[in-house]
Amino acid sequence: MNNPSKKISLFGSTGSIGCNSLIVIDSLNSNGYDISVKYLTTNTKIDILAGQIKKYSPAGVVIQDNDAYNEFRSKYDFKGLEVLQGKKGLMEIAERDDHDFLINALVGFSGLEPTIKAIQSNKDIALANKETLVVAGKIITSLTNKFNTRIFPIDSEHSAILQCLQGEDKKNIRRLILTASGGPFLNKTTEEMKNTSVEDALSHPNWKMGKKITIDSATMMNKGLEVIEAKWLFDMESEKIDVVIHPESIIHSMVEFIDGSIKAQLGIPDMKIPIQYSLTHPGRISSGYPKMDFTKFSSLRFEEPDLEKFKCLKIAYEVLKEEGTYPAVMNAANEIAVDLFLKGKIRFTEIPEIIEYNLNNHNNTDDYSLEDIIETDSQIRNQILRKYND
Ligand code: MN
Repeated sequence: MNNPSKKISLFGSTGSIGCNSLIVIDSLNSNGYDISVKYLTTNTKIDILAGQIKKYSPAGVVIQDNDAYNEFRSKYDFKGLEVLQGKKGLMEIAERDDHDFLINALVGFSGLEPTIKAIQSNKDIALANKETLVVAGKIITSLTNKFNTRIFPIDSEHSAILQCLQGEDKKNIRRLILTASGGPFLNKTTEEMKNTSVEDALSHPNWKMGKKITIDSATMMNKGLEVIEAKWLFDMESEKIDVVIHPESIIHSMVEFIDGSIKAQLGIPDMKIPIQYSLTHPGRISSGYPKMDFTKFSSLRFEEPDLEKFKCLKIAYEVLKEEGTYPAVMNAANEIAVDLFLKGKIRFTEIPEIIEYNLNNHNNTDDYSLEDIIETDSQIRNQILRKYND
């Protein structure tokens, strides 16, 4: 049962999920909850952070980026505020026992080690950082069992599945069906995708999100990451996780049971709803968020994803089956390739090519430690950067 009284740290507080989390916390606090914000963190957005500090008076903040940290120190002086720096700062906060809950909205692989520290210090986690489970799902699962902590997903699909599974027996599940909007290129040809601009790739039809996840949605790697995330969150066999394209993003995901019944969770696409559920699960609290008007939707469409066009999803399905250190390779290559695309250094269609090349040249192993995952991640990043940064 989620406790209505929490002391939280919010990692990645200035991003899209972070800002929405604070709105949800305000709303819960005016509805009988007592959630205090102990720590906030940002990578570079120090002015947004300063505004949050004024409003929430946290005990401390972490600024990941070096230059941003120095700029913050010279620009702001909040009495009694502890200001920590870099990954070291995140690790230190994650470990402290003056709070009991972590909302992890960090981007990419950087979310992994703080998550582990938080679990090892017995915190429950609301997890928006899907890469954590993708690269180290096996390690995370065994740690949450060992330390008796829980992970509540902040991802519309996984929140939907969690809601559909309430009161159900796992043995009665036939399959999980994750819905995917298909992103901005659903109806584009591969040839058109080749010449796409950064701007086109960043214009998602249904969701307003950070840059990394928006590009992942355009390549459909986001759905690939989510399939792997679902496997670990719900302890589900790979063959029982399917994806269906649903361009309206009204059904957030579904569960099919052995008797042929299907449960779906629906709603207006608004991340505040799954964020709130991660904090109230398995209970619910009334909210002022947009409500569904069925008469406004004349149809809900579904189609099969085109794996030849969306190669990233195909790659993720293969990686899901193979497991081992492949997910870490796929994730690292994807993070760097997305960054190279955003910087104008590669074409959109080179993203899956880079990932595939690195997977093909990797010796996969099922016998790995956290250190191996960290080592694999940095090795793949450096390898790609050496090639593309002349
Ligand atoms: Mn999602």
